[in-house]
Amino acid sequence: MSEPHVLSRLPLLRFLFRLRNLRRLRLRDIGVSLLQSEVKQEHQSFSLSLFSRIFSLIIMETKKKQGLNIEGYPIEGLSIAGHETCIILPSFNLAFDIGKCPQRAISQQFLFISHGHMDHIGGLPMYVATRGLYRMAPPTIIIPKVIKENVEKIFEAHRAMDQSELKHTLIGLDIGEEFYLRKDLKVKAFKTCHVIPSQGYIVYSVKQKLKPEYVGLQGEEIKKLKFSGVEITNTTTSPEVAFTGDTTSDFILDPHNLDALKAKILIMEARRSSTYVENTMSVENARDYGHTHLSEIISHAERFENKAIVLIHFSARYHLDVIEKAVAALRAPLAGRVFALTEGF
Ligand SMILES: [Zn+2]
Ligand SMILES: [Zn+2]
Repeated sequence: MSEPHVLSRLPLLRFLFRLRNLRRLRLRDIGVSLLQSEVKQEHQSFSLSLFSRIFSLIIMETKKKQGLNIEGYPIEGLSIAGHETCIILPSFNLAFDIGKCPQRAISQQFLFISHGHMDHIGGLPMYVATRGLYRMAPPTIIIPKVIKENVEKIFEAHRAMDQSELKHTLIGLDIGEEFYLRKDLKVKAFKTCHVIPSQGYIVYSVKQKLKPEYVGLQGEEIKKLKFSGVEITNTTTSPEVAFTGDTTSDFILDPHNLDALKAKILIMEARRSSTYVENTMSVENARDYGHTHLSEIISHAERFENKAIVLIHFSARYHLDVIEKAVAALRAPLAGRVFALTEGF
């Protein structure tokens, strides 16, 4: 006997879509298969049990989709080695790498690409096209200078194919060069070590501080000095967030990269350690493929001054509990300040 149908389909669908928008969820992930299977039947309404199933999936998904919130910065996105990496920092209106262009990335105005591997750059045309589709401001995309010509060719090919404008600003940034997101926020590219040209990025907050000799002066006096051309402030910068992209642990030893190790939050890749779980990926393996092994992070533990380290880019073959165990097993000085971004595992 079929279950009694008590809810009409339309209001429920409306409710679910509103909830999805509200929580930035993707129905695809939370029960579209349930919806489809039910809609395929000729019923015009849903059963209560279906409603409660979908609702509990939404609740579960909401808990899962919250991402991380560290040092006051929400960190969203997902990173699965070889599949897709896109890390979103809504506080800065930016994403690091675009992966397959997850929905949340589209609303970010700035995009920083670490290197040309498909799992990091594949969704780039989609990101630009979707922003155009929704009539959002053309995005600004910062890429390593060495890949700029090839990226331009990608856009030319897509423009030729779909005859759309694909409006955006493309900026090639070399290692050591800076880009200002805002007056009080700049991003600097730093050297990472991968099998192809690659770079990481550090976001700095920029503050103007009154020079000590002028502290205590009246507003009018300060104004006068300023108008007479006297430099009354010092500029101070502090590294807030660093993102490595794919890299071997050699980036840790580069003296030019000290700010990445001092940033409040360091988002870096890590292959899971053999020490803690199983011996399937050796340090040598990780290095050969241009990646970092968790045991290398442990052996360099003293160098990290970061308040928090967010590990990303785990292999898809790991289960969530395996990653969580490896992180939970970390000891001082890393214990308690290492987090894993496990969206999608
Ligand atoms: Zn990768
Ligand atoms: Zn790569």
